[in-house]
Amino acid sequence: MRVFKFGGASVKDAEGIRNVYDVLQKVGFEDVLLVVSAMGKTTNALEVVIKDYFDKSSALQSSVQEVKKYHNQILLDLFENDKNEVFVAVKSLFSDLEYFLTHNKSPNYNFVYDQIVSFGELISTTILSHYMNFMGIQTQWIDVRNFIKTNSNYRDAEVDWVSTQKNISKNVKRKILNVTQGFLGSDENNFTTTLGREGSDYTAAIFAYCLNAESVTIWKDVPGVMNADPRYFENASLLNQISYREAIELAFYGATVIHPKTLQPLQKKEIPLYVKSFINPLLKGTSVSKGVALEPFLPCFIVKRNQLLISLSSIDFSFIMEENISEIFALFHQFKLKVNLIQNTAISFSVCVEDKFDNFKSLNTILSKKFKVDFSENVTLYTIRHFDDMATQTVEQGKKVILKQVSTETMQIVTSDDK
Ligand code: ASP
Ligand code: MG
Repeated sequence: MRVFKFGGASVKDAEGIRNVYDVLQKVGFEDVLLVVSAMGKTTNALEVVIKDYFDKSSALQSSVQEVKKYHNQILLDLFENDKNEVFVAVKSLFSDLEYFLTHNKSPNYNFVYDQIVSFGELISTTILSHYMNFMGIQTQWIDVRNFIKTNSNYRDAEVDWVSTQKNISKNVKRKILNVTQGFLGSDENNFTTTLGREGSDYTAAIFAYCLNAESVTIWKDVPGVMNADPRYFENASLLNQISYREAIELAFYGATVIHPKTLQPLQKKEIPLYVKSFINPLLKGTSVSKGVALEPFLPCFIVKRNQLLISLSSIDFSFIMEENISEIFALFHQFKLKVNLIQNTAISFSVCVEDKFDNFKSLNTILSKKFKVDFSENVTLYTIRHFDDMATQTVEQGKKVILKQVSTETMQIVTSDDK
């Protein structure tokens, strides 16, 4: 069995859905499981619904209406008349969403988030699956929540591998085209959970692992894994073959083509991962598989913007030692700051972090009681895997380097004067 993942960008409009049909015609669809994300920016639009709901904003109705209008337009573009039963199916999902919004009593933000945001994937797969049937490809729509079981850590749920494995091996039918939702799961009480933003790649890996799939293909709007983001670097080139290890490193340092959690299950069973273009599905793209000989010889560039560089030094010239460091890390963890680089000397300690949830201010109040805290906002962190002089120069040119760290394979550079 092959597992295919189509992300939001690939199904952002009617054209995109038709293209999925074309891709399937070209590469085959028997014995395939399709994992599909919410259409386009639907997850973000549903996040606005959630915000309006909690703010008790009068805009709530119109933000729900936005999501409805967007999907309705796609339906009208895809199906020649509104007699197709997909219209009833999608309408009923929106009624469920509205029912939840009017009847929910839970004040738990993360719980409510998952119950609402999941409609994105439920709707996209309903539309896609009906469209394939309409075009003559029979599909089996499956509700992923009956397969992927998780704990109740809403918005970042962890997979219960034992029951997930059982459900998948027992109930996924082979030899047909299955269509299911990325990103979602359900907990012990059958409440919907999600696996973290951009989690659909991971869903594909979970199914592949449990099905002992032959391969996973992530269909993208780029030709495959590139050695640099073409938006920021001229002359970005395609990496034809990379090892799991290299892919894990790249994902770890922030390359966004593959969700970091995706690789581990695949690597365990040596299931190859292909990253291919949904525009040119017959091109080879990138293959990720076992083997050191596959390391790229090209330098790979990863850029992370909007980072925060924090330097802590001891107030009294005492050493920053293990117990301080573990305390500092516990605080970063508690305040959900993601550490992307660490550097320390005897009396100072610097970290480059991402403050996604705007928590640094509160953390700083605590840190300042024990340390002298200096920080620079809006710095950029460049990581170069397999760096060479040219690569380093490309990054440093015209920028103010404020920190640099070098290991055998990886160079990290923090610059301050970058947009
Ligand atoms: N729709 C979800 C998100 O946008 C999951 C995914 O796209 O992978 O985060
Ligand atoms: Mg998405």
